[in-house]
Amino acid sequence: MNIANWGKYPTIDARIRGFRTVGDLKDSFQDAATLIARGLGRCYGDSSLWSTIVSTLKFNRILAFDAEEGIMRCEAGTSLEEVLDVAVPCGWFLPVTPGTKHVTLGGAIASDVHGKNHHKEGAFSDHVLSMEVMLHDGEIIACSHRERQGLFTAVCGGMGLLGVILNATFRLKKIETAYIMQRTIRAADLDEVMDLFEQYADATYSVAWIDCIAKEKKRGRSVFMLGEHALRKDLEGSQFAERPLEISLRKRLNIPSQFPSFVLNRFSAKAFNFVYFQRAKTERSAVADFDTFFYPLDAIGHWNRIYGSKGFTQYQCVMPRDTSKQGLRSLLNIISWGGEVPFLAVLKLFGKGNGNLLSFPMEGYTLALDFPITPTLFSFLDSLDKIVLDYGGRLYLAKDARMSGEMFRRSYGNAARFIDLKHQLDGSDKFRSLQSERLEI
Ligand SMILES: Cc1cc2nc3c(=O)[nH]c(=O)nc-3n(C[C@H](O)[C@H](O)[C@H](O)COP(=O)(O)OP(=O)(O)OC[C@H]3O[C@@H](n4cnc5c(N)ncnc54)[C@H](O)[C@@H]3O)c2cc1C
Repeated sequence: MNIANWGKYPTIDARIRGFRTVGDLKDSFQDAATLIARGLGRCYGDSSLWSTIVSTLKFNRILAFDAEEGIMRCEAGTSLEEVLDVAVPCGWFLPVTPGTKHVTLGGAIASDVHGKNHHKEGAFSDHVLSMEVMLHDGEIIACSHRERQGLFTAVCGGMGLLGVILNATFRLKKIETAYIMQRTIRAADLDEVMDLFEQYADATYSVAWIDCIAKEKKRGRSVFMLGEHALRKDLEGSQFAERPLEISLRKRLNIPSQFPSFVLNRFSAKAFNFVYFQRAKTERSAVADFDTFFYPLDAIGHWNRIYGSKGFTQYQCVMPRDTSKQGLRSLLNIISWGGEVPFLAVLKLFGKGNGNLLSFPMEGYTLALDFPITPTLFSFLDSLDKIVLDYGGRLYLAKDARMSGEMFRRSYGNAARFIDLKHQLDGSDKFRSLQSERLEI
């Protein structure tokens, strides 16, 4: 079966095996010499692609939920949407969420995902209390921040390369309502938006949409967004006050499967960025349901189709806080003059990293750019890699489809330790992906 992840690049002809029980998974381990786990395929590139894939999607039961303490235990194929459907009506929310709820618990841990609150609340694995992992020989090992800590810090962010996560217990976050108090502020350029991030470093959620095509003085103009979970008193007098924890039903728009790729070009991207910036008022506050605030793109089914059949890639880098400003300036400079056009660009602030061997976040700024695949894109991205490396940064493995092994080894300080541990725990090199082959992990 031909299969690709969210960026639709690359594609591979793979054998996909599902499992409902631990016994079924063990059988797959015996039948296939090499394999990789796959959840909802929301990584952008090739992290969960290999000739044999074990799909976790049928292994998706919520095993326990303590609604008093906000602690949940789920099988790894449970999606974050399924978690929210149960947790929100009881007054609990995900401690950390990526920009889509269509990811599995296993995928969230394997990529150690971050959200708009990393500067305050860390990455997903920081809220995982324990988990069970099946190693290459079928042995099941429990690990946590205290027990088998070495394994835990390698599996969180380890991109499925040490074993298959079977289940995890994690802590949720107390909420009074399903709504977010959202504030939007327009920033004229990169300096201004970075000042806003620093000024509002105490806000729970912050993110900026950034116009990378605008040139000269307008370079980096942004729409900066802040959010806090709304309290009951914040909703008083509004239509949401009566049922504050109700999940609102959302209409979903679908992009047709044959969306023509020529619709996306420098002119349409420029027009989109112009309109988005102009529409944002100088400053505005609003109440938004959590779907609108956290998952705006989930409202458009198959939005990845707008990039056409060749697909797209997301270039997400992070650079340390003290070099970020210079580094981002250099990146924006090349991007605004270069031939490759990012359609969407998002900037976030990260707090300190958590020490997991391959976790992406480090204290600093992360920029994510969506580029349609063109014949010249990858050599252009190689030039961005040089800047990221010069400024001490790295790229996010969950978004990557093309970085070189050298870039990986030079930018991930714990790459060698991870590879050593993989040799020890997975001597037969059972867990492999197109990405691990490319990066020589
Ligand atoms: C619209 C959109 C927005 C996003 N926003 C963010 C964001 O804000 N922050 C962020 O951090 N990420 C973000 N992502 C990326 C996404 O959160 C990660 O790629 C996540 O890992 C996808 O989970 P998945 O279930 O789809 O896993 P897959 O994409 O199927 O797999 C991802 C990795 O996890 C491994 N894996 C999956 N299940 C298991 C398991 N049970 N055991 C071991 N390994 C496993 C795979 O082998 C692979 O290496 C976004 C993605 C999209 C499409």
